[in-house]
Amino acid sequence: MVSGESPGRKEPMLPQLLKFAGKVSIPSDDNDKRNFWLGAVAIRRDGCIVKAKNGAVMANSMSNNSTAFPPAHAEARCLKKAGRGAILFVARVNRKTKQLAMARPCHHCVKILYSYEVERCYFSISPNEYGVWTPESERIKLYDDNFTVE
Ligand SMILES: [Zn+2]
Repeated sequence: MVSGESPGRKEPMLPQLLKFAGKVSIPSDDNDKRNFWLGAVAIRRDGCIVKAKNGAVMANSMSNNSTAFPPAHAEARCLKKAGRGAILFVARVNRKTKQLAMARPCHHCVKILYSYEVERCYFSISPNEYGVWTPESERIKLYDDNFTVE
């Protein structure tokens, strides 16, 4: 097992990958009437990219309230596939406008970020802002361009 980082991990293609996380969030059918969708992609330690979307509300069993719990959140689902030490991208998409919206990980998910030893987590804030979470800090940055997810 090589423990070194692959070169691509140092310079993640941030806007593209956040946008991709947004694309990932878009449901495959019209039955999903949530106003916002959440998607996540991660660059795994080996450089592979994995993805996950939020569990659809009541898509599965009514008896199981799993969407209320972090394991159903896109971040957690994505990290299950990515394993430890990943770089994570989380995007929320407004269903009407297809613009990016606030996707700051909830405090449950932040605990999961720590336990999976996530290096960095980028999350959408608005069409022209994103956040960067690291185990030490959290910053807000501006995109060069506004963008929407089509
Ligand atoms: Zn969460």
